[in-house]
Amino acid sequence: ETGPGDRADADERADRLAELDMRAIIHPHTTIGAPDEPVIFTRGEGAVLWDVRGKSYLDGTCGLWQCPVGHGRAELAEAAAEQIRRLEFYSSFGDYSNEPAIRLADRLLRLAPPGLEKVFFTNGGSEGNETAIKLARLAHHHAGRPERTIILARTGGYHGMGGGSLAATGIDRLRQGFGPLLPDVEFLGRPHALHHDTDALVAELEQRIAELGADRIAAFIGEPVLGVGGMVPPPPDYWPRVQEVLRRNDILLVVDEIVTAFGRVGHWFAAERYGIEPDIVVTAKGLTSGYIPMGAVLVGRRVLDLVDGAWFPHGFTYNGHPVGAAVALANLDILEREGLPARASAVGDRIAAGLAPLAELDHVREVRGVGLMLGIELDRDASGVQSGARADGLIVRAAGNNVIISPPLVITDDQADALVRLVCEHVAAVGN
Ligand code: PLP
Repeated sequence: ETGPGDRADADERADRLAELDMRAIIHPHTTIGAPDEPVIFTRGEGAVLWDVRGKSYLDGTCGLWQCPVGHGRAELAEAAAEQIRRLEFYSSFGDYSNEPAIRLADRLLRLAPPGLEKVFFTNGGSEGNETAIKLARLAHHHAGRPERTIILARTGGYHGMGGGSLAATGIDRLRQGFGPLLPDVEFLGRPHALHHDTDALVAELEQRIAELGADRIAAFIGEPVLGVGGMVPPPPDYWPRVQEVLRRNDILLVVDEIVTAFGRVGHWFAAERYGIEPDIVVTAKGLTSGYIPMGAVLVGRRVLDLVDGAWFPHGFTYNGHPVGAAVALANLDILEREGLPARASAVGDRIAAGLAPLAELDHVREVRGVGLMLGIELDRDASGVQSGARADGLIVRAAGNNVIISPPLVITDDQADALVRLVCEHVAAVGN
């Protein structure tokens, strides 16, 4: 039982924390010196979060897509605690290793699309893409083609915040003020399932390769389904056709599955769904469901043949972290045991059907998505939907004109229906 006095204490504590936060923390993607009052979360369970004031929220984005198994899994806490008690960490540089990392690498390679044969661990997605870009360049360099340095990327693509991963990110508002970025990155148009524009995109790819010279291009990097760029699935023939052009020109294919791997689009890897045969797959987020930061870069045979014998002076202190690996193994157990990739398809279809009528509204350009990667594109900034829904206890994310919806894979049918109802209400509310 809590009384009015307890509530006043809780509010005072919340106010004090908020004030301290605004004074002490620079949050990602905010205006420095002009902080917003934070929502301070204290607890989570499944698809629900609670803040320090006791308000509950339905988590319609699972943070930044990182949490397929949902919040509050004691099993993952236990896996971490047990590993910390045994051995918290030792470097994986050189010839040091640890058992959870070894077991995780083996398990990932058995789950992954065919042809991926080795794993390089990281702390997250950006580091994974830095690693992929460096590996792709090194592969050609070591094979006696050092002039193959260009990375082909796509407008609207998001690959992270590091030197190379930001350079490959095709979203202008994220790049401004940080130049000059890594040179030799060239942008192509993005695919769009609803526009069936594969012919034009393949023609553009061929033309750019001809202009730049295939012998100067190291790799092509892309997300199977654009995430931050607006939850845009490709036409079904896009990836097989792009891949054929890349193969013919000896250009490596780096697939950024940081959002899509581990079930979100109904398969363990989106590469399976879209018929992609990647040379490198970059993962993070869902690998540990975000309980601990960790990523994994899966490297294919073509790359391994090219870099065979090359010295690789690359690594981050916490590579192959045993606690991260122990959590990842327990997380994969949950995904498997509960059949969550299939669940993503089923509940994703239910939510998509509920959102479909929004397409009739004048200010809605498109409702789209696959599995539990859903997006609604408006003809205006979507931040009003984010703030309105949040006031009513639903978290969705505004990215430019897009409303991003990507709940944990464990979201129940009732929660999914509540999400649909609130999204429909708040998208309608920002119309004229
Ligand atoms: N690539 C994609 C497709 C992402 O969505 C993200 C993060 O949202 C990243 C890369 C960067 O990952 P991280 O933030 O873990 O560095």
